[in-house]
Amino acid sequence: MSDIIQLLPDHVANQIAAGEVVQRPASVVKELLENAIDAKSTYIKLIIKEAGKTLIQVIDDGLGMSVTDARLSFERHATSKIKSAEDLFHLDTKGFRGEALASIAAIAHVELKTRRVDDEVGTEIKIEGSEVVAQEVCVTSKGTSISVKNLFYNIPARRNFLKSNAVELRHIIDEFHRVSMAHPSIRFDMYHNTNEVFNLPVANHRQRISAIFGGKTNEKLVPINEETDLVTITGFVGKPQYAKRTRGEQFFFVNDRFIKSAYLNHAVSAAFEGLLKDKTHPSYFIYLTVDPKSIDINIHPTKTEIKFEDEHALYAMLRATIKHSLGQFNVAPVLDFNRDSSMDTPYEYKSKTVKTPTIEVDRNFNPFKEEKISSGSNTGKTDQSATKNYTSFKKESAGDWENLYVGLESEMTASTSVKNDFSSVEFESTEITGSLFEGDEKKMGHDITYQLRKKYIVTTIKSGMVIVNQHRAHYRVLYEEFLRNITMASAVSQQLLFPLKLSFSNSEIELLKTVKEQLENTGFVFGELSQEEVEINGIPSITSEGEVAVLLEQLIGDLENEVPNSGFSQTDLLAKSIAKSIAVRTGAELASEQQQYIVNSLFACTEPTITPDHKKTFITVTMDEIDKKF
Ligand code: ADP
Ligand code: MG
Repeated sequence: MSDIIQLLPDHVANQIAAGEVVQRPASVVKELLENAIDAKSTYIKLIIKEAGKTLIQVIDDGLGMSVTDARLSFERHATSKIKSAEDLFHLDTKGFRGEALASIAAIAHVELKTRRVDDEVGTEIKIEGSEVVAQEVCVTSKGTSISVKNLFYNIPARRNFLKSNAVELRHIIDEFHRVSMAHPSIRFDMYHNTNEVFNLPVANHRQRISAIFGGKTNEKLVPINEETDLVTITGFVGKPQYAKRTRGEQFFFVNDRFIKSAYLNHAVSAAFEGLLKDKTHPSYFIYLTVDPKSIDINIHPTKTEIKFEDEHALYAMLRATIKHSLGQFNVAPVLDFNRDSSMDTPYEYKSKTVKTPTIEVDRNFNPFKEEKISSGSNTGKTDQSATKNYTSFKKESAGDWENLYVGLESEMTASTSVKNDFSSVEFESTEITGSLFEGDEKKMGHDITYQLRKKYIVTTIKSGMVIVNQHRAHYRVLYEEFLRNITMASAVSQQLLFPLKLSFSNSEIELLKTVKEQLENTGFVFGELSQEEVEINGIPSITSEGEVAVLLEQLIGDLENEVPNSGFSQTDLLAKSIAKSIAVRTGAELASEQQQYIVNSLFACTEPTITPDHKKTFITVTMDEIDKKF
């Protein structure tokens, strides 16, 4: 019998390797940016079209390549960065596998232009699916430009599996963040569909972080610093009061390489223990410098996971360093969330006599909402003050005073209602007995509802009793309403007297742009979406001004975390996200009309039994079941 083993042709081997290295446009971005850094560039420009599906181009001013190197760079295992296995243990470059360009060229149309500073002319090479289709001498500036067009053009299955532009762009921006944050001494620009998304001049770490995440970031950072034989730790952690509900801004860099580490993340969380509100996550930007010999980067093709020699010691040091900084910068004592809320009143306002504003804003437009906000205040930290800490409102014009006044007022009400809480607890129990008798008389009415522990709404039906989870039910009601509005563009908008200006980072704004139209269908009216600022002229009538910031923040978080392959459309995601953020919370006291509104609207829904996340909205207890208990 003849031998059956064959060597795979190169282009097939390259396609297989590409499967590991290139998962999506963002992977290409990462590899190209890293090559530009390894080439000692001082200025790197990233140009993207259609979230990288049609074009990814990286232009650098680095070392460039000779004709031979340019040609060789697309061969597999062709690298200028290591010569022997030995070199793996003192890597100072990002790349070393010599696989990226070969993999990319196997699955896209690639154009390379490159020139070394001392060469008079440069080299231009065009490759399609591993095959060189053109090679010419060209005139080009010093450095290298690589364009990657029509990614996965020859693997339709992979191309079809790419997510929406919003999601793919998000991944690209993530990579851009990671690389540019690790190298503040390099100037970076990024363009998407001809819009400038980032323009990052040479800076230090702190300035770079602020340039990426918005000017407001600077004041939220606490520096950390520690130097030991094992590791040098520098960077920043976010002040605890700015912790977010989504795990957005968490970065570890080891020797200027972004890495993921659940173990080290745990060390940071441990340092923050007791300082954070429930379900919030601190931001951090931590740079570790270790001896290259003490780590192994070679364990993962995309090189985002590494192995440390002495992980335990590193954990302990990181935790201690952060704890120390949080203490030193006097951050910890501010974190008494249960403090008397009258203490929250900013000093400057206390001494001022607050004038009743003459401008009337129609806050009673939706009385239901109003009620919700103030009752939310009863439960410790108010929705409103959370909003204040959470998102930076830029307030301008006369309306601001009015807004500030309103905030103040509700904080004061909050403090009084905290006191009242005790009496209302007692009152609640007497009311239970009261309503039992009362119920007998009114039993014929179908509109009797009772709120149980600010969490459930109890009402009767023919066969017995229904217990409705107030938050989940309202979530379902709003979800269906939003879904209708988004698809039919029929939402009612509430015009704002003064435009609301909210600060977001550029990447967040870029993400908002991708869902702008759908948001407008829900009733949002946007003014300018400029650098770091969103102007809002109208909001869905169902929301209130104070909720908008949190709502959009939550939405951005949800868009960022959109579960891959979840199969849900963006419209669905949007409706869910908005509905969830404005649905009444557990802990909100509801007037009986509100209770009835929720119950009646729930049962008018197409799918009343479950939330959009498939959780039960209500349970029934039949008369039989009740009778059996007696
Ligand atoms: P690796 O980065 O692992 O070496 P790549 O496939 O990414 O492998 O690149 C292959 C080689 O091509 C590099 O080792 C480098 O010599 C050269 N190269 C790639 N991109 C650039 C660039 N932007 N400037 C100069 N040389 C480059
Ligand atoms: Mg490389």
